[in-house]
Amino acid sequence: MPATTPPSTAAPAFDPEAIRADFPALDQTVYDDAPLVYLDNAATSQKPQVVIDRMNAYYARENSNVHRGVHALSQGASEAYEQARETLARFIHAPDPDTVVWTKGTTDGLNLIASSFGPTVVDEGDEILLTEMEHHANIVPWQMLAERTGASIRVLPITDTGELRLDRLDDLLSEQTALVAISHVSNALGTVNPIDAIIDAAHAQGVPVVVDGAQSAPHRPVDVQAMDADFFVFSGHKMFGPTGIGVMYGKRKHLEAMPPYQGGGDMIDRVSFEGTTYDDIPHKFEAGTPNISGAIALGTAAEYILNVGRDEMHAYESDLLDYATRRLEAIEGLRLIGTAEEKTSVLSFVLDDVHPYDAGTFLDRLGIAVRTGNHCTEPLMDRLGLPGTIRASLAGYNTRADVDALVEGIRKTQDLFG
Ligand code: PMP
Repeated sequence: MPATTPPSTAAPAFDPEAIRADFPALDQTVYDDAPLVYLDNAATSQKPQVVIDRMNAYYARENSNVHRGVHALSQGASEAYEQARETLARFIHAPDPDTVVWTKGTTDGLNLIASSFGPTVVDEGDEILLTEMEHHANIVPWQMLAERTGASIRVLPITDTGELRLDRLDDLLSEQTALVAISHVSNALGTVNPIDAIIDAAHAQGVPVVVDGAQSAPHRPVDVQAMDADFFVFSGHKMFGPTGIGVMYGKRKHLEAMPPYQGGGDMIDRVSFEGTTYDDIPHKFEAGTPNISGAIALGTAAEYILNVGRDEMHAYESDLLDYATRRLEAIEGLRLIGTAEEKTSVLSFVLDDVHPYDAGTFLDRLGIAVRTGNHCTEPLMDRLGLPGTIRASLAGYNTRADVDALVEGIRKTQDLFG
């Protein structure tokens, strides 16, 4: 039989230029006609036109409160709001949309867990295990919980390259450990933490694990069931969605056992002065009028990423990160901070004789938007002995031309300050 070519089943190639064209904010100049090079995606990403249009359409035609009215607009809004929840459940492979709770973002989700779940597992004398690379949002709520309960904080250290010291895990995961809270991907270093190994080790001791997915959900496929996370939280605005909306996924058994976080309308079953019963999950955690347009538009953002192809975008970003790493490494007087084996989309660096703030300010005048400072990771900066870093962070719409512009900008910065 003659050999035949099998039909191609490959997804269409990832096209960053086509993606770019979907984001109106990328097509602008700043200051003296400097084309914007947006490399601050770890702080917040830009939004595609479909997300902007979805928000506008909601307010133009569909605006109404959810779960309350019998009228057409309210029913339509409720349906769109719940459909978005289903999309987000699919986005992280949650077993069921009821395990997806809308929050204001990662910070809000972590505070919810610390306030509501925290006291159910953490007692006086217990330990909460964090890591040296955590964002303040994954430190302070646990410190507040420790203060309330009489527990203490333990910290898993990192190596000089920015990887977790797994060799210390056995030591630190002790009889006293009541909870582990850890970032999936570091916002300051880009390190991808071996989350499966840490969750397995914690679960072997019966310890629940809270995962801060703020920097992973936007960039790589996430499967909360395969990971077996007890909680997984992330923000909409870092994944092409609006600000003020995010997700807290929790295992059903935890969500059902946890007390509500806030009381009010929409989270109750029946209220009387003698006592109140609460609604089922997820509504038990969603008191008051929620961010309806934000949730619906976050659903659109998640669909957008799923349509582009999550694996494809991840592969593209990894290739771009490799390219950027090679180009930055070649610059004399530049030191990359965070050189872990496995990284996602973040390039933190310092320049000899140039304060990060000066570098960031000068790059900004060239149209290059980067972040400078401690990136809300002061304990990490203390560990590294740095006042801060310059951070360029990538998204699927960035290109090699953006990286080349950054390299050129760094050279000019060094010329000016050197
Ligand atoms: N955790 C990490 C790892 C982050 O990068 C961020 C945002 N910089 C947060 C938590 C807090 O996210 P948000 O400000 O959206 O609540």
